[in-house]
Amino acid sequence: MTTERFIPTPDGQYNIGHLCTRLQCDRGLAGKTAMRWIGAHGEQAEYTFGDLERESSRFANVMQNLGFLPGDVFFIFLPKMPEVYFSFLGALKSRLITGTLFSNFGEEALLDRLDDAKAKGILTRKSYLKKLLRIREKLPHLKFILLVDAAEHQASDILSLPALLGESSDCFETPLTPAETPSVLHYTSGSTGKPKGALHRHRSVLLQSRTAAEVLGLRPDDIYWCTADHGWVTGTSYGIIGPWSLGITQVHFGAAYDAAKWFELLEKHGVTVWYTAPTALRMLMREEPALFARFNLAKLRHVFSVGEPLNPEVIHWGRKVLGRDIYDTWFQTETGAIMITNRPGLTIKPGSMGTPVAGVEAAIVRDDGKVSPDNEQGNLCLRPGWDSMFVSYYHNEDVYRQKFKHGWYRTGDTARRDSEGYYWFMGRSDDVINTAGHLVSPFEVESALLEVEGVAESGVIGAPDDLLWEKVVAFVALRKGVAWNSALELKLRLHISNRVSTMATPQEFRVLDNIPKNKSGKIMRRVLRAQYLGQDAGDVSTLDI
Ligand code: AMP
Repeated sequence: MTTERFIPTPDGQYNIGHLCTRLQCDRGLAGKTAMRWIGAHGEQAEYTFGDLERESSRFANVMQNLGFLPGDVFFIFLPKMPEVYFSFLGALKSRLITGTLFSNFGEEALLDRLDDAKAKGILTRKSYLKKLLRIREKLPHLKFILLVDAAEHQASDILSLPALLGESSDCFETPLTPAETPSVLHYTSGSTGKPKGALHRHRSVLLQSRTAAEVLGLRPDDIYWCTADHGWVTGTSYGIIGPWSLGITQVHFGAAYDAAKWFELLEKHGVTVWYTAPTALRMLMREEPALFARFNLAKLRHVFSVGEPLNPEVIHWGRKVLGRDIYDTWFQTETGAIMITNRPGLTIKPGSMGTPVAGVEAAIVRDDGKVSPDNEQGNLCLRPGWDSMFVSYYHNEDVYRQKFKHGWYRTGDTARRDSEGYYWFMGRSDDVINTAGHLVSPFEVESALLEVEGVAESGVIGAPDDLLWEKVVAFVALRKGVAWNSALELKLRLHISNRVSTMATPQEFRVLDNIPKNKSGKIMRRVLRAQYLGQDAGDVSTLDI
C-alpha cells in the first residue's frame, strides 16, 4: 500500500507543515474550510487551507527571523486556540523539533520537559507566564518566550507574537525536508524516572494520513471532530496531521467537556466522523437519555475512541443511544499512529481493541522472545519499522534501546490475541497509571508529595475507577507529630496540581505508618495495590520490614 494514494511526495518533500497546508492549496483546496473554530463561549471562526498556509508561513518566518535553526526545540504551551495549529505547522515548516504541552502542566512537569529537551523557545500566554518565570533560571537554553496575547514585547526575551507576526511575510518556501527529519516531540510518563520525550520524524505523516483514510474512513466531504488535546499524541496525529494532510475540514472546540454542548456541536456542525475517548463516552452515558433525544445526529457516520480500554457497555450504549458502533483504536505516543483497531467493515467484538492495521505486525511475545500461542496473555509487541515509529527517547538512547528486544518493540502493555487475530487489552506491565486516557507517572507524584512539609514517605498507585478507568491513589506516611487533616489533604492536592498537573492530582489519600519498600528501597506499589483492593499481596519476602 503506497502512501502516494493519500498524499503525494514524489519530489521527496515530506514536510508535515507543507503537506497539511501548501500541498492542499496546490490541490485546489485553498478556499476550502480547514478549521471551524468554536470558542468556549460559542464564538466561531472559519479558516481555509489558504489561511492555514499563510498563517503557518508567517509563523515559520517569525521563527527564522528570531534565529531558530532546523533541529532546535520549540514548545507550544497553550490551551486549544487557533494559534496552536498555525504555530505547530509553522514550526514544522521551519524544521524545528516541535513539542506540545498540556496547558494544565505544573511547573515541575514543565521544568522536566523543557530542561530535558533543551528547549530554545516556547509559545504561551500571559496567564501562564508566572509558572515559566518561576523555573526560568533553571532553563539556560530557553532563549525566547513568545506570548500570543501581548500586544508589545515585554523584555528582550519575552516577546509579543502578534507584534512579530505583524513584521513577517506570509510567504514561506518550505525547504525540502527528507522523511527522516525529526518532527514532533511528545513527552510520556514512565513508572520510574523522569518523563521521556518520544521523538518522531516527518515520515510519520505517511501512516497518519493512511490510517486517517483507512481506519477513520475520512472522505473529502467529511466534517471531522477530534476532541483530543494537542498535548497528547492523538491531538497532533489525528487532530492536526492525519486529517489536514488529506484536506479534511475539522471542527476544533475550545471548551471542556459539556454533554449538551457536545451534542449541540455534533448536530449543528453536521459532524460526520467523531474521534473521542472512553472517559468522555462514559460521562455521556451518565446523562439522562432525554438529553440525547433532543438532538438529530443523522449526519454522524462513525464514532471512534482511543486512550483507554473501551468497555463493552459503552459499545452497547453507543448502539442504543447513538445508533452507531463505537470503534476502539489502540496506539501510543511512541507509535505515532493507530496500530490495532476496530474499524468500519470489521466485525466488532465488544471489549477487544480489534486487529492490526495493514502493514503493522503485532504479536504477544514471551520474555524469551518466542511468540505466544493464541489466547495466552503476555507482552504486546510490534515489529519495528512502521512509518510513524518514534526514533528515540530524546537524550535517552539507553531507555530507547531497552524497549527493543528479540526484534520486537515492547509496548509495555499486556494483551492476548484470540484465534481470529483480535487483540484484547489486559493492562500495563509497569506501574504507569492511565487516568481518563492520560498516563500519570507514580514516580512524579511520589516525588512531588515528598516536597510537602510533614510528608515522610509516599507511594502512588492506580486503582480501578468506573469513570476514569483508573484513579490516582496516594499513600503517605507522615513525619512524627504531624496529624492528618483536611487542610493537609487540600495542601497536598494543590501541590500536585501546581507542580505536576491536575490530571495527576490524587483522587484519594490513605495514611500509613510506613510505605512498604523492598530491601533496596524500591516502593512496593504491588503491595499497596493489594492492600487497597483488599487482596493478598503475594510474595512479600523482599519486603524491608
Ligand atoms: P499514550 O502514550 O499517552 O497515548 O498512552 C498509551 C497507552 O494508553 C497504551 O500503552 C495503553 O496502555 C493505553 N491505551 C491507549 N489506547 C488504548 C485502548 N484502545 N485500549 C486500552 N488501552 C489503551
